[in-house]
Amino acid sequence: MVHTPHPSAEPEPNTDAVAATSTAQAGQDRVRAPDLAGLGLDVARPLVIVDVDEVLGHFMEGFGAFLAGRGLEFRVERFALFQNIYRPGAAEHLPIEEGRAHYDDFFRYGAGEMRVAEGATEALRRLSERAGVIILTNAPGQGRLARARWLGRHGLDYPLLLNSGPKGPLAAALAEQAKGPAAFIDDLLPNLDSVAEAAPAVARFQHVADPRLRPLAPSAPTRHTRIDDWDALRIAIADSIS
Ligand SMILES: [Mg+2]
Repeated sequence: MVHTPHPSAEPEPNTDAVAATSTAQAGQDRVRAPDLAGLGLDVARPLVIVDVDEVLGHFMEGFGAFLAGRGLEFRVERFALFQNIYRPGAAEHLPIEEGRAHYDDFFRYGAGEMRVAEGATEALRRLSERAGVIILTNAPGQGRLARARWLGRHGLDYPLLLNSGPKGPLAAALAEQAKGPAAFIDDLLPNLDSVAEAAPAVARFQHVADPRLRPLAPSAPTRHTRIDDWDALRIAIADSIS
């Protein structure tokens, strides 16, 4: 997804939201990231950059329930988003653009109902004792407020940045401000590969929260460590930034 699992075969959801202060500089493959200190983070500490959908929250489950409320079926048959939305009994998925409209609506109206991934809140709480934590999500801009509220309600009230497209450039611009090591956690290979390219020193971890998606999610364990259990993931992240 879109971070939600978005398969590479599907277009990235349009997000008019870009990180509050991330601005592509003309002619350069760099972004100007928000100032870590300005976000209340201590640049002398390590940095943990973590995704939301399918990492901190059960996006697919929440989106599926939202679609069911609209009389649609969300079939977890492949690691895809818009290609998994059907009318009941239909053999063909909804047109991609219709799926995208439901996706955008979910961030406006439904994302507040998402369940937190098991162990995620406690893992970040413990990591935050030794590192700065920042949330980096590819949510559409209209979802910013609901997303921030969701994080706050679930004890995940860390600085929130919205991004659009591959996360490497922004993750790199954040990590280079931190004097300590940094780690990045996401469910999607394109984001992990993007960080590997833009910021190879940043430790990378893949996490897929939904047990139905785990066997379907493309992985590259030789490039990015895959850990689907938050307790084990916390320990691995802590090791990587110690
Ligand atoms: Mg995600």
